[in-house]
Amino acid sequence: MDVIVKIEESAATGQFCGAPRAIRMALCFALLTGIFWGTPVTAQISSPASTVSTSPARPPAFVDAATVIPGLVVDMRYFGTHNFVGARVDGYEAPVCVLSRQAATALAAVQRDLSPRGLGLKVFDCYRPARGVRHFVRWARDRDNSTKAEFYPHVAKGNLFRDGYIASRSGHSRGSTVDLTLVKLPGDEELDMGTPFDFLSPQSGQHGKVSSEARVNRKILADAMRARGFIPYDKEWWHFTLRNEPFPNSYFDFPVR
Ligand SMILES: [Zn+2]
Repeated sequence: MDVIVKIEESAATGQFCGAPRAIRMALCFALLTGIFWGTPVTAQISSPASTVSTSPARPPAFVDAATVIPGLVVDMRYFGTHNFVGARVDGYEAPVCVLSRQAATALAAVQRDLSPRGLGLKVFDCYRPARGVRHFVRWARDRDNSTKAEFYPHVAKGNLFRDGYIASRSGHSRGSTVDLTLVKLPGDEELDMGTPFDFLSPQSGQHGKVSSEARVNRKILADAMRARGFIPYDKEWWHFTLRNEPFPNSYFDFPVR
């Protein structure tokens, strides 16, 4: 999950949801209710601000990040059941970290930079199909709270939309956003970041009350990512978007395979 409303939605909302009020409400309603998403897989929906591509094939501009980042630890949490949904998320058909070639190349540079310090990267989520985001939206509206204790003990599920934890679109669907942490080399032991991945709480943000060690570790990760062109997100220590992402206005829906 990611809190994308303020940063990642800005590109889309700037024009798409910044359209005249009546149009904006109709479009946003259509997106939220899945009217657009229910179209055939070959459909493309365009607006002046963004395109939603629902082609079923992985575009050649995307790669399996593990093939270009030696030693990358891949733990695709939405492919398995250890996530806030408690189930495999729609669109994840393989435990593969798919990213735009540019994002994967930049991440490879981060990995190279960290290596002399005895550190490496572990990814939790990469490109996210739009259908996966719709799965999150459905989940946020149901009454199941079986994952609350682990993932959102401080937030009422009914407030996840209002509080910005769930949105109808994610920057991850543009293919250049990644959720990740640091591991000690050799191996895959995670560094202490104060909270786990996808812990929906102010503690996961910039002003979260965490130990000094966790604060230092978060800074090591953020500094390394910034140095290679990624923008951190102040509410989630694990979430970064490539500044010069190649598809800033495109939301993809091909499955992860
Ligand atoms: Zn994220």
